[in-house]
Amino acid sequence: MIRDNAQLKENLESVKSRIRDAALRSGRNPDDILLVGVTKTVEPDIMMQAYDLGLAEFGENRVQEFIRKADIINRECHWHIIGRLQTNKVKYLDNRVSLIHSLDRMELALALQARGEKTGRVWDVLVQVNVSGEETKAGVSPKDLKDFVSAVVKLGNIHVKGLMTIAPYTEDPEEVRWVFRELSKLAVDMQREKKENMSMEFLSMGMSNDFEIAIEEGANIVRIGSAIFGERT
Ligand SMILES: *Cc1c(COP(=O)(O)O)cnc(C)c1O
Repeated sequence: MIRDNAQLKENLESVKSRIRDAALRSGRNPDDILLVGVTKTVEPDIMMQAYDLGLAEFGENRVQEFIRKADIINRECHWHIIGRLQTNKVKYLDNRVSLIHSLDRMELALALQARGEKTGRVWDVLVQVNVSGEETKAGVSPKDLKDFVSAVVKLGNIHVKGLMTIAPYTEDPEEVRWVFRELSKLAVDMQREKKENMSMEFLSMGMSNDFEIAIEEGANIVRIGSAIFGERT
């Protein structure tokens, strides 16, 4: 884990320049790609340093960790929930959450709906798709996606804003290019459906190991932890 501000600055600049290059390579505008800094296990003092270096999007995968840090980091930042969300944690979600990347099952949609009704909130969510089909990965299977989204957008307090996936880890990220390509295709298919409460504005794909390939395949949100903050301990 990182300690040193100069190192943090260097990492952040390097990630941003790699994002820029990947975007330009694929004929995209670098400004259209949102960098979410994944801050699980990163302490608030380091996050504040990152904020002062220009990072204002934070991704957390544990609700309690998000709440604890959001109480400390009183800045104009956006919070993203990116990991598997337990339904019994939904009651802690509040208006500080900008985007939930990991809607992966109906039980969770129902819990979000109930919480949304109670707090007068409409949640912006991405549907997590298990493109690779790995058994250990969460996510709706590609063949169930349409039916799942149709049911979710009918609930009322959930707006589906796009799709998210996690590719299998590989030494050579070229091997998982097809996963990102497939998610892009699914988003195009879904966009054709033109449903109320649904847009396919965001494709959240790409992590430290594979974000350049993901951008080349159409990602406009990348979720990057260790390349910015160092290896998690
Ligand atoms: C931890 C995590 C990331 C970031 O992983 P790095 O390899 O450290 O960049 C991205 N997305 C999700 C869902 C994660 O849990």
